[in-house]
Amino acid sequence: MRPGTVYLVGAGPGDPDLLTLRAAKLLAEAEVIVYDHLVSAPILELGARAAERIYAGKERGNHTLSQPELNQLLVRLARAGKRVLRLKGGDPFIFGRGGEEVEALAAAGIAFEVVPGITAACGVAAYAGIPLTHRDYANSCLFVAGHLKDGSVDLDWDSLARPGRTLVVYMGLVGLPTLCRELAAHGLPAATPAAIVQHGTTSSQRTVVGTLANLPQLARAARLAPPTLIIIGDVVRLHGILAWYESSAAQAEAGAGEPARAQALTR
Ligand code: SAH
Repeated sequence: MRPGTVYLVGAGPGDPDLLTLRAAKLLAEAEVIVYDHLVSAPILELGARAAERIYAGKERGNHTLSQPELNQLLVRLARAGKRVLRLKGGDPFIFGRGGEEVEALAAAGIAFEVVPGITAACGVAAYAGIPLTHRDYANSCLFVAGHLKDGSVDLDWDSLARPGRTLVVYMGLVGLPTLCRELAAHGLPAATPAAIVQHGTTSSQRTVVGTLANLPQLARAARLAPPTLIIIGDVVRLHGILAWYESSAAQAEAGAGEPARAQALTR
């Protein structure tokens, strides 16, 4: 790691085993780790003991630091000659505002590197046994953000409601009823399979499966807590036969080893 440089690193969806080798290496070398609420506790523990850890927040409705404040913090730390690790859940360039942060660094003339991570869509789909594409069910897959800053959901419904496509919705728990209603109103059959996965790839992963017609009600009854990911499309049918992780030995082992993980994701 070079001093005075900011490494913008994806931490993956939760399971520390899903970190890249590069992310693990940088964690061990960083002097300052600036992390978001989606970064799980076991991952932070992989950081050097002496590293300063700064929580940058960004929970829904609870932004500990504003984006400009955070950008300034990164610039200040780099100018002080630190080896700075900016650690984000999933992949830094997918709904993570990583773009905005490196824009600010570039504007300030600070050196930076970007390290991709496994985005929630890929990690969660794998652990939920839902292939995002499949020759029998979907030949395209779209990642969308399910809520706007003001809490409303405003998507291009006509272009989303297409057969033969998988839709993955990030940040969609609050907007789930609107999402399902609008997709059905714009032409997707109400019987289209849909799933919502809580805390994917962690010991508290839970998947609720239904259809556009009943998923909002099922999700409410299940009292799911964020982060959750919504997957809509015929590929969801495969969860019934491919769900290898939930209630498997793998999940029990993860839970036994890392009790802090579930909490970490809801911090
Ligand atoms: N950069 C991240 C996404 C940040 S937006 C990435 O690439 O994954 C935050 C949203 O990601 C959450 O609201 C949720 O929809 C999704 N998410 C992140 N981790 C998740 C997890 N372990 N399980 C389910 N959804 C997750």
